[in-house]
Amino acid sequence: MSKTIQDGLWQEEFGKPLLIASQCLQCESKYFPERKICPKCYSDKLSTVLLASSGIVFSCTQVFVKSKLIPEQPYTVGYVLLADGITVPARLIGDKGKLEIGLPVSLAVGVTGKDSEGEEVIGYYFQPPNEVET
Ligand SMILES: [Zn+2]
Repeated sequence: MSKTIQDGLWQEEFGKPLLIASQCLQCESKYFPERKICPKCYSDKLSTVLLASSGIVFSCTQVFVKSKLIPEQPYTVGYVLLADGITVPARLIGDKGKLEIGLPVSLAVGVTGKDSEGEEVIGYYFQPPNEVET
């Protein structure tokens, strides 16, 4: 059995996951995760849009604090600058020595950890496109 870390973060399009965002109809700003009110112009007229599935690492850092959800430490988190110009927070998975600012990465969905009952948790993350799964 497995469960998703949070509903409404992504959906599958043609077999590939895409993050679900809001776009303000007044000022065209995009937000991930979705919002009901635009923090820039306070409009409540937002539509749901799907974001690009690839981008570059905008910032990243290794986390050494133990997490109930993520079994291995350290793990890497950061922001990804997507091809459509929005930065999104994300877990970064890949060779830790190669994860650096500017590295091209692609969105993936898969098991990112286990909950307190040992049930697998499905989350989204970014990884280099040519990363070989082992
Ligand atoms: Zn706005």
